[in-house]
Amino acid sequence: MVYINGGWRTTGTKMEVIDPATGEVIKNISTCGKKDVEEAIKYAKNSFEHWKKTPGPERGAYLAKTVDIMRSRAEDLANTITKENGKPLSDARAEVQSAINYLEWYAEEARRIYGDTLTPSHEGKHLMVIREPIGVSAAITPWNFPLSMITRKIAPALAAGCTVVLKPAAKTPLSAIQAFECLHEANLPSGVVNLVIGSATEIGNVMTSHQDVRKISFTGSTKVGKKLYEQSAHTVKRMSMELGGHAPFIVFDDADIDKAVQGTLLSKFKNSGQTCISTNRIYVQESIADDFSKKLAEKVSQLKVGHGLKEDTEVGPLIDKEAVDKVANQVEDAINHQGTILCGGKRHDFSDAQGYFYEPTVIGRANDKMEISTEETFGPVAPIFTFKTEEEIIDRANHEQYGLSSYCFTDSLERGMRMMQELEYGIVGINDPTPIVIQAPFGGVKESGMGKEGGMYGLDSYLNEKYVSVKFNKNGVT
Ligand code: ADP
Repeated sequence: MVYINGGWRTTGTKMEVIDPATGEVIKNISTCGKKDVEEAIKYAKNSFEHWKKTPGPERGAYLAKTVDIMRSRAEDLANTITKENGKPLSDARAEVQSAINYLEWYAEEARRIYGDTLTPSHEGKHLMVIREPIGVSAAITPWNFPLSMITRKIAPALAAGCTVVLKPAAKTPLSAIQAFECLHEANLPSGVVNLVIGSATEIGNVMTSHQDVRKISFTGSTKVGKKLYEQSAHTVKRMSMELGGHAPFIVFDDADIDKAVQGTLLSKFKNSGQTCISTNRIYVQESIADDFSKKLAEKVSQLKVGHGLKEDTEVGPLIDKEAVDKVANQVEDAINHQGTILCGGKRHDFSDAQGYFYEPTVIGRANDKMEISTEETFGPVAPIFTFKTEEEIIDRANHEQYGLSSYCFTDSLERGMRMMQELEYGIVGINDPTPIVIQAPFGGVKESGMGKEGGMYGLDSYLNEKYVSVKFNKNGVT
């Protein structure tokens, strides 16, 4: 199923969608090719001509209508997310709410696109900066938040007056199809939003090389992000990229240990650790390390693993077999480098399911020789490193390559302020393991990406500044 110029199409080629909790095929859906993507871009370009002139409040009204429709289907959407992504139903419900929040925020923001007037340097001149939509935006979204990543891109794009061609992740196209059904029913003008599902490289190649695509918004791995950046250089497109991360989670000896343990559970094990802002390295000050490790391992070993559709499940499967293999290799490497398994440490065996599960795991005595200390984990594995001083940990917490999110637990305001300054990350949570809110700018520094999503910052990524100078007769009416 692809959605082009306001209509659904099926094609002859098919792909399978798998339930990661069972390994079974949920559905076969049809995919599109190069020609369909080119056509989608053509219609997005045509519709841009009238969409950019549609008044902001009217554009916002379409988003508000989509909010109502999505809200009425929230449970259905949550079920779809759980089936194709695996996350527990309660997390899928939270994701649907977050997807709605983006639409709702930008429904309102569409009426708040402002410009500037500048003080002229000469008499008889009027200087203005007006902000205009960039044009056709291509969006590429990942499988870890199959619904909210879609609205996080589409909502600000439409609010700004851009039109969109979106490619969802091949592993999770069903949430995308349902999101587009909501947009369709909100009666958006034809061609304003288009959905293309199929080969990532084929679609990506058209999107990045096409002259009429003026902006790429991508969320995914740093490796693919770099490729898209390179490919887009030839047509000098605006890029927004939310890429990989390697978040440190620092616990000082003056912190509330129980709160820090609870924070680690949220920041490491939600979505089975498959988020770019997940904690990757837990750094605990030496004097409290044993206490912290014991408490964390106890809590982690109690996490309920299972199929996401079971109401009591707290940790679901990983997305596929490769993901489980990667985690298993990292754990093996950690053991080979003198790490100790405090809980978990192997593939999760179920008698009744063949899905892609790995046991929630805590590794003690983690050290900087382990692969896990520098490479993104994307799985339910928590390595605990220790440190002695604040100076030492600032140096170790900053990563050469990544700079997305970071966390620090301390009861000292002074120390918290210093850490805020020193951590080279786009997001810093101080005593806050879940800092992400709709109004805040989400995005990283270094190879974690560029551009922000969320709040008023998210709108900037879809707007160009146009400078206008008006010269007039300073002597007045002649
Ligand atoms: P992950 O490792 O989390 O799956 P990826 O970066 O591989 O992250 O995928 C994120 C998104 O990028 C998905 O929609 C995927 O299909 C897409 N993608 C992967 N490779 C390419 C490519 N060469 N061109 C365009 N999109 C791609």
